[in-house]
Amino acid sequence: MKRDDFPIFKTTNRNKPLIYLDSAASAQKPQVVIDAIQQFYSSDYANIHRGIYELSERATAAYEATRLAVQQFIHAKSLDEIIFVSSTTEAINLVAQSFIRPYLKAGDEIIVSAMEHHSNIVPWYLLTEQCGAVLKVIPVLDSGELDHDAYQQLFSSRTKLVAVTHASNVLGTINPIKDMARIAHEKGVPVLVDGAQAIVHMPVDVSDLDCDFYAFSAHKLYGPTGIGVLYAKKQWHDKMLPYQGGGEMIETVSFDRITFADVPKRFEAGTPPIASAIGLHAAIDYVSSIGMEKMAAHEQQLLQVLEASLQAIANLRIIGTHHPKVGVVSFVLDGIHAHDVGSVLDHEGIAVRVGHHCAMPLMTRFDVPAVVRVSLGLYNTEQEIEALTRALHLTRKVFG
Ligand code: PLP
Repeated sequence: MKRDDFPIFKTTNRNKPLIYLDSAASAQKPQVVIDAIQQFYSSDYANIHRGIYELSERATAAYEATRLAVQQFIHAKSLDEIIFVSSTTEAINLVAQSFIRPYLKAGDEIIVSAMEHHSNIVPWYLLTEQCGAVLKVIPVLDSGELDHDAYQQLFSSRTKLVAVTHASNVLGTINPIKDMARIAHEKGVPVLVDGAQAIVHMPVDVSDLDCDFYAFSAHKLYGPTGIGVLYAKKQWHDKMLPYQGGGEMIETVSFDRITFADVPKRFEAGTPPIASAIGLHAAIDYVSSIGMEKMAAHEQQLLQVLEASLQAIANLRIIGTHHPKVGVVSFVLDGIHAHDVGSVLDHEGIAVRVGHHCAMPLMTRFDVPAVVRVSLGLYNTEQEIEALTRALHLTRKVFG
């Protein structure tokens, strides 16, 4: 499916045809995204918002058109609910520092889950050090599903936020965000969703999910690095205090008094990643032209083949068998370190990721130091999964 759209596949890895199974870390870029960025720098580039000349107006219009494309892509109700940030990581830190920290009292609680990426743990942990917040952790069952009964028990009168991933970057598990948000809202608690992995694998509708914040990065959506999105429900805008000071995020400045711009400008201090925004727009147009449902169906088909092939390998243990899951499968080969597996695969031209995947608490939960992670993108094929399976049999032979 659409593999030819991606120029990277004309290159090799260790002199073998590239088999890229690391899209969960970052997706490869289609030519249309590369072209859009090049075209923008060649013909439309200027700094935005403050220029009164035509070129700057053109650049501003292109940048703001991305905001509209994002709004439509994730079905936000209002354009000003879309804040451009550098990444998922920045989006989560922004909520922690602008929305939670100013109101937090020692002993207040944040609920996270045991399957979070470090970027949805550390910003909250920092609040434990900065203001005495307490982290409450939703356990993960052996299957890789969250323990939803335990989740309900974690709320108290001190709960200030639920911060949970939409899809796990290790287990692939898709969490039932709509239900989780409903439960949190019944208790008056807002919900932040880490959408870094989900955004590329399924249609996302923040209005239907009814989450309060949704964070994602363009680079996992076949777009460029350097830009991400924070969806922030309008209801909370007045409570979100400035986070980084600088140009563009103000209304008036004197040495005695500064007044701040409304959201989203309040959180877009300084010159933003303009060209990356143009690339994000091209990426959204690209995936929309294929259709998120069609992409998801292709990945689910490959996922079935992948899981069946892995299950047929001796002494291979998949970590996280729960469905529904996105096209992400992690495993260990008993007796062989994940890094050794990764090295053999690399020599066969196969790019996978090995290690703790920025989810150390999850490694502890499953009692493994590291796992091999295979993650799928729209360009992957069944032939590539066959090649992976052959290489894993070879790994078994090499290491006994
Ligand atoms: N959350 C999850 C679930 C992720 O998989 C990642 C990246 O792998 C992140 C957050 C962080 O994304 P970024 O590095 O783009 O900020």
